[in-house]
Amino acid sequence: MVSKEEVIGLLFEAGVVGAGGAGFPTYYKLKAEGIDTYVINGAECEPLLFGDQYLMRKEAPSLVKTAEKIKEILGAKQVIFALKEKYKQEIKALESEGAQIFPLRDYYPAGDEVILIREVLGRTVPEGGLPLMVGVVVNNVETLYNIGRAMEGLPVTHKFVTINGAVKEPGLWLVPVGVSVEDLINACGGVTVDNPWYIEGGPMTGVYHSKPDFHVTKTTNAIIVVPTDSKLVQYETMSLERILKNARFACIQCNQCTLVCSRKLIGYNLEPHKIMRLMAYPNQLRANVDVLKSALLCSECNLCSGLHACPMQLSPRRVNQYVKSLFRRENIKPDFPRRDIEPDPLRDFRLLPSKNLLRRIGLHKYPLEVPFRGEFDSFEEVFVLLSQHTGRPCVPIVREGDSVVKGQKIGEPPSGALGVPIHAPISGQVVDVSALGIRIRKA
Ligand code: SF4
Ligand code: SF4
Repeated sequence: MVSKEEVIGLLFEAGVVGAGGAGFPTYYKLKAEGIDTYVINGAECEPLLFGDQYLMRKEAPSLVKTAEKIKEILGAKQVIFALKEKYKQEIKALESEGAQIFPLRDYYPAGDEVILIREVLGRTVPEGGLPLMVGVVVNNVETLYNIGRAMEGLPVTHKFVTINGAVKEPGLWLVPVGVSVEDLINACGGVTVDNPWYIEGGPMTGVYHSKPDFHVTKTTNAIIVVPTDSKLVQYETMSLERILKNARFACIQCNQCTLVCSRKLIGYNLEPHKIMRLMAYPNQLRANVDVLKSALLCSECNLCSGLHACPMQLSPRRVNQYVKSLFRRENIKPDFPRRDIEPDPLRDFRLLPSKNLLRRIGLHKYPLEVPFRGEFDSFEEVFVLLSQHTGRPCVPIVREGDSVVKGQKIGEPPSGALGVPIHAPISGQVVDVSALGIRIRKA
């Protein structure tokens, strides 16, 4: 059997990062000690995403085998696949390989790591803490798939991307990292609305773009197209100035945002209405760091905004993002004293079922399941970003004019810094190297 150090080395070299979210380098997570449970997050709780469900259906044997190996490497006692109880085909496929399943209820955001651990194990990650503090490592399904490939020496060069929403032919593609979203949308027959916006990721937590002029990274799990006049676009594209002004003048302190806050419901000391109240007194922020710092506990799930909770159509989530940026700017890392954390006794009554969420955000007319359309190849070039994970950006190790082959390392993190290398997703010629990324034209 390979040692823990060897696996960590393989995962680093292959450039494996969390395949959704911020892209935390996976090798670093697996360094953890004192782990008793390895949890595979198969919730895929953002609406309209399908990649993890597809992998659980089609790749169950290799996923279960890889998960068992990582369990041993971590020294854990158990590995649990946590997925929605409604994913019947996926549960059957995994159970037939002997996987231990935890069926999750179908609400949003069941896939938030902190909430998932509470549901599966009844443990609460300390405020401001990490899952390893309660003896748990969590990886999502596509990350696990990439771990399995890395253990065979294969680097991360491709990404499963769901294209859904207002496009002619929604589908799931296996896409080389660096492909332009414009190429992808064209391959789906184009958009079906006049003024589209492009969401990179899920509609509740993704990044909104007015043009498809961006590129697939190791963390791009979906492109969802929505019309400009949708409620989603209204919240996510409002200027920060307007968001703060609205918070100051329109918040009626009704407390609805706090009542439904997903992190408050598991017992965290996060009350978005109090943070909103402070926005009316900008010169008192420093005197109220204890309230402000609770914004750092926010998962940015978006349930508190007018999409679900706020009757005044405000966005405490955007305000929390702003407050987090203030802490980063001032380089303040506040402490959260350890305390016993218990969920709100009314939590079960306040959960938002996924189908209700879909209606509220106006996406119920789009398919929940899309066909797999194979490996994407309708493109001429890729642009591989140097920064596509948590940590320091990579430094290029190729030059303009170099020929590269698929899987070749083309950039590495600075020595000693948190990060992972990037690899050529296709064979071809390097046509440009800039501070942002490396452009490769197909051979
Ligand atoms: S729900 Fe809206 S109006 Fe009510 S307290 Fe929260 S932000 Fe203010
Ligand atoms: S986005 Fe809103 S509801 Fe979600 S965790 Fe943050 S404050 Fe709570």
